[in-house]
Amino acid sequence: MKINNNSCLADSLIELVHTIFGPSPVPLHRPVFVGNERSYLTQTIDSNFVSSVGARVTEFEERTAQFTGCARAIATMNGTAALHMALLVAGVRPGDEVLSQALTFVATCNSISYIAASPVFIDVDEDTMGMSPAALRHWLETNTRRAGGQTLNATTGARIAACVPMHTFGLPCRIAEIADICDEFGITLVEDAAESLGSYVGTRHTGSFGKLATLSYNGNKIITTGGGGMIVTNDHALADRAKHLTTTAKVPHAWDFVHDEVGYNYRLPNLNAALGCAQMEKLPAMLEIKADIAARYRAFCQAHGIHFVDPIDGTTANYWLNALRLNDRAERDAFLEYTNSKGVMTRPIWRLMSELDAFSQCQTDGLETSRWLVDRIVNIPSSVPENEFHRLSA
Ligand SMILES: *Cc1c(COP(=O)(O)O)cnc(C)c1O
Repeated sequence: MKINNNSCLADSLIELVHTIFGPSPVPLHRPVFVGNERSYLTQTIDSNFVSSVGARVTEFEERTAQFTGCARAIATMNGTAALHMALLVAGVRPGDEVLSQALTFVATCNSISYIAASPVFIDVDEDTMGMSPAALRHWLETNTRRAGGQTLNATTGARIAACVPMHTFGLPCRIAEIADICDEFGITLVEDAAESLGSYVGTRHTGSFGKLATLSYNGNKIITTGGGGMIVTNDHALADRAKHLTTTAKVPHAWDFVHDEVGYNYRLPNLNAALGCAQMEKLPAMLEIKADIAARYRAFCQAHGIHFVDPIDGTTANYWLNALRLNDRAERDAFLEYTNSKGVMTRPIWRLMSELDAFSQCQTDGLETSRWLVDRIVNIPSSVPENEFHRLSA
């Protein structure tokens, strides 16, 4: 069934959107502050600890470690900084290559470039829209050679230092299979879990499969600190190193300024962490409401022959952004044009990173599935409406 300019199907979907989210304009995803945000912010201001030191930073880190089941969490000023640091402490060096996805938000690739390493783009799976273990294995088997426990690119000679898969829109990718392949080839796994806080493979939180993983709390993410990020890991030595490097590499001293290497000021301010603590308290309720909204979209789609993108068996999505898979690019464009003209914000999936100037020279595999998905995937409004919150807590 076609969704296009003069289809009453698009109108029915818009009607459902208005039922859930209220009248137009309906944003794609907006933050919601219905908990202790204001009181924690006021407390933080009154404490004078508004900047990069303070109890809320530690509390936010501990809450995140506990929620994700990771031993350690290190807060940063945004998700890009978290990824940059995670790759650095994972041992990525200038000239290395890092396997990732062309179908991702640009931050994934930017962070690789900050180290003067190069991304190599591996195709994604049609269902998860995240890195395909089959494509990963195929690329490694046909394009690399082993030398001294390392995997080298047979063409460029560069070391394949790390692999950064991404859990697209909060749908877990086949991360356990990817972890096994990385193990086999001696490649460090770093998960870009920016979009998947609250998403699980079985009972294991996404981000707990890699050596390190990173989260984002940008304003459009499932919870927000205004801007912020987090590195999570089970490796205490790497956690200590990440904390040190993100906090200007300052050696603890009662009064002197000693920095033992070039560090980064990637600290999350206490003000933002206060917001994060309040948001974490509401995360379980948000996940419940998001699953409920996804269920309403799913029922609509099933009734009308539209493909609603669901997580694969054995995984649980946070439903950060709900997605539809339409039939072709023409239908996608007509849908985007029509819904946006009606004040219902919908968006296509990202352009492939391999098509951006900055990354057009990077090595890729065929990217067939990535290209196929770009033509078909749209995101539809996915916020947590405040009234749903009040209903839940009533
Ligand atoms: C949001 C996001 C990030 C991090 O972005 P910041 O805005 O720097 O917090 C990284 N990767 C992906 C896939 C993202 O969606």
